[in-house]
Amino acid sequence: MAQVSLSNIAKVYPTGIQAVQPASFDIPDGEFVVLVGPSGCGKSTMLRMIAGLEEISEGTLVIGDRIVNDVDPADRDIAMVFQNYALYPHMTVRKNIGYGLKNRKIPAAVIDEKVKAASAMLNLDDYLDRKPSQLSGGQRQRVAMGRAIVRDPTLFLFDEPLSNLDAKLRNQMRIEIKALQRRLGVTSVYVTHDQVEAMTMADRIIVMNAGRIEQIGTPAEVYNTPATTFVASFMGAPPMNLMEGRFEGGAVRVGDVAVMAVPSGQTGKVTVGIRPEDIVPDANGPLELDIALVEELGAHRLLHGAIGGQQISVHVGKDSPVFTGALRATLKPNVVSLFATGTGHRL
Ligand code: ADP
Repeated sequence: MAQVSLSNIAKVYPTGIQAVQPASFDIPDGEFVVLVGPSGCGKSTMLRMIAGLEEISEGTLVIGDRIVNDVDPADRDIAMVFQNYALYPHMTVRKNIGYGLKNRKIPAAVIDEKVKAASAMLNLDDYLDRKPSQLSGGQRQRVAMGRAIVRDPTLFLFDEPLSNLDAKLRNQMRIEIKALQRRLGVTSVYVTHDQVEAMTMADRIIVMNAGRIEQIGTPAEVYNTPATTFVASFMGAPPMNLMEGRFEGGAVRVGDVAVMAVPSGQTGKVTVGIRPEDIVPDANGPLELDIALVEELGAHRLLHGAIGGQQISVHVGKDSPVFTGALRATLKPNVVSLFATGTGHRL
């Protein structure tokens, strides 16, 4: 049974803006799903509809075995973790974590036990008597997590929970949240604009663009076989190289360079996608590139140049020689993605 099920869920704000086009997907019990896309694509609206913080304009939302369209947020058995933590500044960590339970008239001894368990899990034992102002950003984020955990929800909802943290702490919290979710096995929906967060945390990723779902898949599926040119360029840094090509003489060509054999007889334009790391420098390779610039990135290098008159980037290891000028290269097998020119849909 799906833990969460959306059928044609859509949102039109009173201003007339259609923030979410009708969307359908199921989230099985225990899965970690990440909604990712650029700012304004509708991911927070989608999450807030699941949370009950935003009215659903159209469609049916099921959590567990109940239709919850008209169920109050407090009665949906969910816990939400926000970007701004929303901690009470005048309360200690202990009180912050237990506050929601106290509000629900849970006996003090039970609250105490649950707070202790959460605190141990989150390494907060030494901070229980501090106020939020006496904590680091990462610790505050953990308190917010603690408050969600003690409620034993059937569903965690995360709204960009790491965007206020610096890059190093973000990496660390990413791992902590993912490990915690695995351990607790609670179904989770996580919103971010950061494709790295999506790739590293998700069991499945839902890529959104302009209110629509572009693709749903595992990180590997979304990365290796993007459904659209939008997904190809949004997921991955640097993005997939997208080049104008054409079918000609039994090959897909970029300029005069054949990048892939196809049944002869096919003609017309096509958009060619190749990931930068799938191009390998090779003195005897069939491809000829012209490298204009080398970008040093420490563990690896990015070579920027052109192939058949179209821009291309190549990702190489830090030990490979520095190239500018002509570079021969070969492609790894089965790495070319083809998209319909115009619609951008994968062929
Ligand atoms: P994201 O989370 O992907 O950045 P949002 O879901 O916040 O996107 O917003 C999607 C679209 O809906 C945007 O065009 C935004 O301006 C609009 N929007 C968001 N909230 C409201 C609101 N309360 N009233 C009207 N329009 C809104």
